[in-house]
Amino acid sequence: MQKRIALIAHDHMKDEMLDWAKKNRDALSRHILYATGTTGMLLASKLGIKVHSMQSGPLGGDLQIGALISEGKIDLLVFFWDPLEAQPHDPDVKALLRLAVVWNIPVATNRASADFIFSSPFMDAAYERKPPDYEAYKNRIQKAVRSECGTNDKA
Ligand code: PGA
Repeated sequence: MQKRIALIAHDHMKDEMLDWAKKNRDALSRHILYATGTTGMLLASKLGIKVHSMQSGPLGGDLQIGALISEGKIDLLVFFWDPLEAQPHDPDVKALLRLAVVWNIPVATNRASADFIFSSPFMDAAYERKPPDYEAYKNRIQKAVRSECGTNDKA
């Protein structure tokens, strides 16, 4: 069962990502891959696999992946972020990680979690991701707008 996988590695984590991806090349090549610019270029050139590359992370790539997640177009995020170095695009990194939680996407943030996720039976099977129910949240906003516009039914 093909998954849509987003791959991102911060600069000091790119060797780790490459090494992990080489070991998982066959598995990766069965799926549809997305990546931030430099990560995608590296994976495509070193592994010879097809990757849909976004902008480089600091230029908006993380947010592009985040947008795909919020549109329901990503099933799994593999994001080797660097815990030892501040990133110029830290707000984007946080936004991306937050959106993955908002939309209930599995996230591998290091090699061990990537190994665990890739050895899951769900990798080759259908997985019914429980869609988050944000209706109450959306209704709350609509109710507030209606009441501000004086169109609240009860008004
Ligand atoms: P890059 O972006 O793949 O373009 O290096 C990764 C990131 O820093 O988010």
